[in-house]
Amino acid sequence: MASTDPPDLTHALEASRREAHELRAELEETNRGVLALYAELDAQADQLRQATELKSRFLAYMSHEFRTPINSIRSIARLLIDRVDGPLTEEQARQVEFIQQNATEFAEMVDDLLDLAKVEAGRVEISPAWFEMVDLFSALRGMFKPVLTNPAVNLVFEEPRDVPKLYTDDRKLSQILRNFISNALKFTPKGEVRVSALLQGDRITFSVTDTGIGIAPEFHNTIFQDFAQVRSPLQKRLRGTGLGLSLSKKLAELLGGSVALESEPGKGSVFSVTIPVQLQP
Ligand code: ADP
Repeated sequence: MASTDPPDLTHALEASRREAHELRAELEETNRGVLALYAELDAQADQLRQATELKSRFLAYMSHEFRTPINSIRSIARLLIDRVDGPLTEEQARQVEFIQQNATEFAEMVDDLLDLAKVEAGRVEISPAWFEMVDLFSALRGMFKPVLTNPAVNLVFEEPRDVPKLYTDDRKLSQILRNFISNALKFTPKGEVRVSALLQGDRITFSVTDTGIGIAPEFHNTIFQDFAQVRSPLQKRLRGTGLGLSLSKKLAELLGGSVALESEPGKGSVFSVTIPVQLQP
C-alpha cells in the first residue's frame, strides 16, 4: 500500500510555496514595470497635448494679430484706388492694385490658418440645421457671380433632383464647395466648371467638375495635406496658400464625411465631398 512520506510532503509544500512566492515577486515586479510604463506614456501624451495646444494657440494668436494690420493696408489701398485723396498716375494705380491684391491674398491665408488652428484645437463648432440644397446652390451662384471674369469659362449649377432636405452645417459645407469652385475657376482657362449633387442612400456627394489643367497622379495623395501645392507653370503662377484643400478635408470629416479627387492632366478634375444627409449627433 502506498503511503505519503511526511518529510517528502513538507518538502514539496515548501517548494511550491517558494515557487508561488517567486511568482508573486515576479508579478509584482512586472506590475511595477507596467505602472512605470503607463506613467511614462501619460507624461508623453501630456507633452504631446501641450505641444499641440501651444501650436494651435500660436497659430490663433498670430492669425489674430495679423488681421488688424492687413485690414488697414487693404483699407488704405482701397482709399488710394478710389482716388479719395486725388488722382494717381497709371503706374501708381498699378502698384496700389498690386498692394491690394497681395494684401487680400495674405488675408485669405491668415483666415485659412486661423480656421485650421481652430479645427486642430477642436474648437470648431458644428451647428447643424435643416436646409434645402437649392438655397445653398443659389447662395453659391450669387457669391461667384462677381468673380466670373473669364468669358471662356461657364459656371454651371446642376438643378438638384430628388435631393431631400439636408440636416448638416450648411456654412461648413458651403466653405468646402466654395474652395473647390474657386480652385476650379482658377485652374480652368476655358470650358466649364460644373457643380452637382448625387444622392446615394443616406449619403450625398457634391462634385465640382472642371475642364481645366488637371492634376498629375503623383499629387493625388498629397494634395489634401497642409501646404501641399502642385508644381506646374500655371499652378505656380496662381500660387495660393496650399491650405484650402486640407481645410476642406478636415471640415468634411467634421461633417461625418470625406473628400475625394479624380483628375487627369490636360482633361480636368473632379473634386467631391460626400457627407451624410443627416448629421448624427
Ligand atoms: P491653394 O489653392 O491656396 O494653393 P489648395 O489647397 O486649395 O491651396 O490647393 C492646392 C493645390 O492644388 C493648388 O495650388 C493647385 O496646384 C492644385 N489644385 C487645386 N484644385 C485644382 C484644380 N481644380 N485643378 C488643378 N489644380 C488644382
